[in-house]
Amino acid sequence: MRLVLLGPPGAGKGTQAKRLQDHYGIAQISTGDMLRAEVAAGSPIGREAKAVMEAGQLVSDDIIIRMLGQRVEQPDAGKGFILDGFPRTVPQAEALDRLLAEKRMKLDAVVELAVDDAALVERIAGRFTCAKCGTGYHDTFKPTAVAGVCDVCGSHEFTRRADDNRETVTARLEAYHHQTAPILPHYEAQGLLRRVDGMADIDEVTRQVEQVLSRQPTAI
Ligand code: AMP
Repeated sequence: MRLVLLGPPGAGKGTQAKRLQDHYGIAQISTGDMLRAEVAAGSPIGREAKAVMEAGQLVSDDIIIRMLGQRVEQPDAGKGFILDGFPRTVPQAEALDRLLAEKRMKLDAVVELAVDDAALVERIAGRFTCAKCGTGYHDTFKPTAVAGVCDVCGSHEFTRRADDNRETVTARLEAYHHQTAPILPHYEAQGLLRRVDGMADIDEVTRQVEQVLSRQPTAI
């Protein structure tokens, strides 16, 4: 199964992508995670991307398309994948179409997680992650059971993304509406777009996404 998860920052793409990865045994491919790893490693791509990401803007299509092209060649993507955070522009969507056509592959569905802008700032500004096992939390909506201790692995170390602050979120939302939302008609025209209410609670969104996918004939 090959899927694209679309939606503004904070819509829950990462959370749902991880669940789908476990459920279907296919790879979660997050261009945001890949870029954060490049930044942490201090690689040439990371050095170029860092300031752009911290400003809430989009990294150049050339870099992203090259990075994604290499990633889908990895063995774990052979059984299928969930793209989380890609494509984010019309040229990226067109590049993905070409890449899949070259490999004689098709997308099964593009799932849009629809969320109100007003809710997103609250959702994003409170996010934090266990530094050891990667479990995601939220100050208000999903705190740890014991303050300062990860529920899953017991670690005391947590991280917050450099771009998860109120100012940057506004820029990221603007980038979404101006540069990413125009790809919705691209997928609508291909008959692939499915919309799910991303305002529902996490389990309900998962249920809705899986329901949408269970109605999907699997593409090649
Ligand atoms: P995310 O983790 O998906 O919210 O991405 C974090 C940041 O990485 C974004 O705000 C962009 O600066 C950059 N980024 C991630 N994916 C892409 C992409 N497909 N195209 C351009 N920039 C991206």
